[in-house]
Amino acid sequence: MQAKQKILILFGTRPEVIKLAPVIAALRTIQTIETCVVSSNQHTTLLKPFLKIFHLKIDYNLKVGTNNQTPNMIAGKVLNRLDAILDKEKPDVIVVQGDTTTALAGAFAGFNRKIKVAHVEAGLRSGDINSPFPEEMNRQLISKIASFHFAATEKNRKNLMNEGVPMEKIFVTGNPVVDSLNFIAKNWEPSKKLLDLIESTKGLKRILLTTHRRESFGETMSGNLRSISCFIKKREDTCLIFPVHPNPNVQTITKEILGEQERVFLIEPTDYHDFIALMKKAWLIVSDSGGVHEEAPSLGKPLLILRENTERPEAIEARFAKLVGGNSNRLYNLLEENYGVDTWIKSVKKVQNPFGDGKAATRIAEVLANGK
Ligand code: UDP
Repeated sequence: MQAKQKILILFGTRPEVIKLAPVIAALRTIQTIETCVVSSNQHTTLLKPFLKIFHLKIDYNLKVGTNNQTPNMIAGKVLNRLDAILDKEKPDVIVVQGDTTTALAGAFAGFNRKIKVAHVEAGLRSGDINSPFPEEMNRQLISKIASFHFAATEKNRKNLMNEGVPMEKIFVTGNPVVDSLNFIAKNWEPSKKLLDLIESTKGLKRILLTTHRRESFGETMSGNLRSISCFIKKREDTCLIFPVHPNPNVQTITKEILGEQERVFLIEPTDYHDFIALMKKAWLIVSDSGGVHEEAPSLGKPLLILRENTERPEAIEARFAKLVGGNSNRLYNLLEENYGVDTWIKSVKKVQNPFGDGKAATRIAEVLANGK
């Protein structure tokens, strides 16, 4: 009997699990493939509930996550601890996702052992190596190493080709985040706690906020939070729901600016099914998250992007998202403008998701099955 192809899948953060869970599920349906699932645990508490909802059992936990680590500390630990697993398991391919330090360290570990690397969500480029930091450089470096580049969009493919990646190594599959979103929305109900929150904010225009990118820490973040605070105070039929990231840079400033304010709900980061329910019930989403860019259009929701630039310009081109930039006055003005005239918000209901059709994972698994 022919030996099975062994594929090691590495993740470490919340968005990586969300995007790789459907890929793991699709790989497991292929008889000629054996999977080995490794978590770096770069995110600790944020990661756990996601393993549960996707029914994911991990084979190895690198346990690299502790508070306040530098990217170098994380990369060093991943390289060191993964190397022993590569030696033992001898995978044919390592799959990494996106732009995290875990993903870059996993790709580099594969390169050093002459193991092929497959990169999911390849070809995103902001045009500025310092923004998002260090993610933009991470993803560029992974592109230098990878043998399989799974791009979500044609634009991503072009970015890769412009950097000299051979056409035959690039596969436009869509982003598996859409597969995940569809799966969770179909199979999971929101929690009682979340339904209570929705009930208690009934009739209000809900702004859903997430913000925790490193570049936003400090003045940019406090400016944005102040703008939202002013808007909520002024407009009594609005409210804010903000799952606050555990990072102390977010926690402290949030309590200072938004703590104890009427119609402001500061909650813990939610499970994925609850977050999807929150997005569905939002009047407007305000976020600096990459994943939220890719999810909002599937739910027909408008998005204000709290960033200077975006490596997902498809969101702006498809007209469901607007870039706020680093200017908190612009955020306030955009909130007021859309409160007054809801033409844009209404128009977003019908957009098509440019990032995927919900079938990316199957396409990725098929390429890997054929690509030994
Ligand atoms: N998310 C979630 N609960 C929350 C906040 C976000 O499930 O309380 C999900 C969200 O739907 C998206 C992902 O987490 O899929 C985004 O993660 P994050 O913002 O950490 O990373 P990024 O998308 O910026 O890489």
